[in-house]
Amino acid sequence: MKKLVIASNNPGKLREINRILAPLGFEVLPQARFDIPEAEEPHFTFVENALAKARHASRLAGLPALADDSGICVEALNGEPGVHSARFSGEPRSDERNNQRLLERMKDRENRRAHYYCVIVMVRHPDDPQPLIAEGAWHGGITRAARGSGGFGYDPLFWLPELAKTAAELAPDHKNRISHRGLALARLVELLRSRDYAAV
Ligand code: IMP
Repeated sequence: MKKLVIASNNPGKLREINRILAPLGFEVLPQARFDIPEAEEPHFTFVENALAKARHASRLAGLPALADDSGICVEALNGEPGVHSARFSGEPRSDERNNQRLLERMKDRENRRAHYYCVIVMVRHPDDPQPLIAEGAWHGGITRAARGSGGFGYDPLFWLPELAKTAAELAPDHKNRISHRGLALARLVELLRSRDYAAV
């Protein structure tokens, strides 16, 4: 098994990444196992933040590392909250206040189109000149009121017209199959299979 440190301590994410990467021969280890603190995410793009987190974990663990970064981008708000999704309404992070703020900002907007975006970056070592980069986007819209109790974050506001449901009304397995993170993970598997990504 090839050891791979994951720059996240979120149990749901770790379980999902492990389920997908274990069959490819990876032993997935959370960064907390190495006492690695969370990295800064100071950048304006998801990919830069994910790369910073992966490098940081790889440097401190001395192992290949994987990190993701994600958020929701709203067309009428020029892509906001984007990389600021987790802290859209400031500190401390609150999904409820973030959702209230988003509804408020969208009050008079006709164009409700939005997408979730996820990027996953894998580095073989901290100075890897060719990181693997896998993206996923999930398109939908912003409701006028919260609906559903599943998922997390902006899910109660994320409307899926073809399913006539919000993301918070989907069963977890269904969401994992079609979400931005699910799509990025599937793309990562394709990339891992299509090139020899042995640790160097
Ligand atoms: P992170 O990449 O785990 O730091 O997520 C960034 C933020 O984006 C989260 O705190 C949520 O606000 C939002 N977000 C990302 N993915 C999802 C999702 O699947 N559902 C709801 N909110 C999400």
